[in-house]
Amino acid sequence: MSIRNRLALQFLLLASLILGGAFITVFALSAGNRTEDFATRLKERGTSTAKLLLQVDEVDEELLTLIEGDNPVGLPGESISIHDDHGRAIFHLGAPAPNELDTALVRRVLSEGLVRGEEAGRREASTFLFANTGERYIVAVSAVDVYGRIRLRVQGRLMTITFLVAQVLIFFVGRFYAQRALSPVQRLIGGIKATSAADLSQRVQGGNGQDELAQLARSFNELLDRLEVTFRSQRDFIANASHELRTPLTVISGQLDVLLLKDRSSAEYADTLRSVLDDMHSLNRLSDRLLQMAQAENNAPVSTFTPVRMDEVLWQARGETLRIDPSYQVDIGMEEVEDEEDLLVQGNEALLRSLVSNLMENACKYSADRTARVALRADRKELRVAVADRGIGIAPEHRKRIFEPFYRVDNTAVTRGHGVGLSLVARIAELHKGRITLDSEPGRGSVFTAHLPKAA
Ligand code: ADP
Repeated sequence: MSIRNRLALQFLLLASLILGGAFITVFALSAGNRTEDFATRLKERGTSTAKLLLQVDEVDEELLTLIEGDNPVGLPGESISIHDDHGRAIFHLGAPAPNELDTALVRRVLSEGLVRGEEAGRREASTFLFANTGERYIVAVSAVDVYGRIRLRVQGRLMTITFLVAQVLIFFVGRFYAQRALSPVQRLIGGIKATSAADLSQRVQGGNGQDELAQLARSFNELLDRLEVTFRSQRDFIANASHELRTPLTVISGQLDVLLLKDRSSAEYADTLRSVLDDMHSLNRLSDRLLQMAQAENNAPVSTFTPVRMDEVLWQARGETLRIDPSYQVDIGMEEVEDEEDLLVQGNEALLRSLVSNLMENACKYSADRTARVALRADRKELRVAVADRGIGIAPEHRKRIFEPFYRVDNTAVTRGHGVGLSLVARIAELHKGRITLDSEPGRGSVFTAHLPKAA
């Protein structure tokens, strides 16, 4: 069921309860009033008749019957009887009244003064005590409140019809208001539908800028902003990655084409093959890093994290770095730790190795002494791997950007690289709930420090 209909129905239910409750209360009050009113009239009629008979000497039963028979204020189906205090009838008027009141009723009237009741045929009765010059009489009056009941019935019908008509009106008015209230939502839905993955530049309109829908629209637009940034960086990443992959392939095929133009000496073949092999190694490393990047981006390894000893990771990374270029040098210094558990990080060993080896390789690559100085320290909560070099250093304006994928500082263009290493390092640290800090002075060197939380 649509929200519009649901709101209209809820509105109808609520309004019906209130209206129905009000009508029932009014009807019940009217019914009560009518009963009280009629009881008063019965008593008045009985009292005036008793007064005429018992207090006016000139009036006897015959005259009273004559007077009351034509009395315009008489009640429909009226019956009035006057009894002594034993219940024996001394006068009666109208429909036949019992000659004697039953003793139980007489007793009640004598003790309570007034007894009201309803007889067959909707006839209402009042029996009450009437005292006259020391004598006690019992007056019994009954009649049918024809007009009062008709009025009450008409009032009931009118209320029922009003209630039913109101139901229909309330439902449609409710629907109309629900539609009006929901029209900004419809507009929002329209705006959201118009937004597609292909075109994330669209933004939805949120109305007056204050209400909840405006907040929803704002949140949605913020989500779109973030998505747009992510999509754009993914697009850029793919374009950059293909470019980085294509360049060495073009170089390789160019070298081979030139080589095949004519016969060469075996030294020339060997030279070209060595250069091609170099490019192939570099390509290999690039594709490895791209794969690791994809792996780190997917967050997939988090579920497969195990406790990893960082000292071992450091030695393995050193081996990997030295294999890239035997002229590199990596010095590792470690603090003595009492408990080997202090060297554990909860993580993915291959990715942690890649984090460290990338920092080691950069330290060697961007320094004249081709040496990386690595220190491992543990404190209460985290392990710190600091990779320092005495190399070219990094100017402040580049310090943030070097962690972006494919970003390279101009002055390092002569050094081989693809600009992927540090972004991978940062992503791996983030995946392990850690971070990378950088301390660098151009011309003097840099210290990259990986802060990794210890395995609990
Ligand atoms: P790559 O080394 O393949 O170019 P990275 O992502 O590892 O890519 O590094 C990005 C850039 O950061 C490098 O191009 C270089 O300019 C700078 N850089 C990284 N490490 C160092 C370092 N130890 N000393 C000086 N510059 C560095």
